[in-house]
Amino acid sequence: MIIKSSNYAVSAVREDQYPKDNLSEIALSGRSNVGKSSLINTLLNRKNLARTSSQPGKTQTLNFYLINDEFYLVDVPGYGYARVSQKKRQEFGEMIQDYLETRPNLKGLVILIDSRHEPTKDDIAMYNYAQYLNLPILVVCTKIDKIKKSQVNKVMSRLKKNIDLNYDHVTVLTFSSVTKLHVAELGNWIEEKISK
Ligand code: GDP
Repeated sequence: MIIKSSNYAVSAVREDQYPKDNLSEIALSGRSNVGKSSLINTLLNRKNLARTSSQPGKTQTLNFYLINDEFYLVDVPGYGYARVSQKKRQEFGEMIQDYLETRPNLKGLVILIDSRHEPTKDDIAMYNYAQYLNLPILVVCTKIDKIKKSQVNKVMSRLKKNIDLNYDHVTVLTFSSVTKLHVAELGNWIEEKISK
């Protein structure tokens, strides 16, 4: 995929705030600090379009980025924020659920999982939920540059133990924003899904 333009479009917490131009959307989710902003910036060849979680005041909204005037990348706020209250967490869950369950424009979900750790309960729940919704899923194992070559198989077998990779609509990629490993494959997956 050739990125010709990328622009922040809108933030939303409810349906009436979603973009109304009826373009395809690809959502990205993962726990905070998994490397989601870095992946978005790497894919789009931008230094700081998606804000990293280390920046204070990061709002917990769905952030829509318009790419090539053709489709939206939707940055889903990182789950597992320690500092939000139980009530906020619940609202947060509802916001994500509303979006994933009711948005016809949504063509696929990228679930980011940190290669260095066991998938979290939230990672597994998100995967099972997306599978239940029958969404095309791309599982991206982030920060793979931190893993020794000899250990990459272990990352894969740990993933297989935790999530059902027999699901028809799942693809798995290792990824690094540092070495840019598989950035083209990520773009290809998105391109294929938005053209369906
Ligand atoms: P987010 O909270 O999911 O948006 O995560 P960020 O993109 O802000 O990344 C969290 C931290 O991980 C930052 O310190 C990044 O520099 C680091 N990071 C992100 N991607 C990679 C990667 O591919 N490799 C390495 N080594 N570090 C990464």
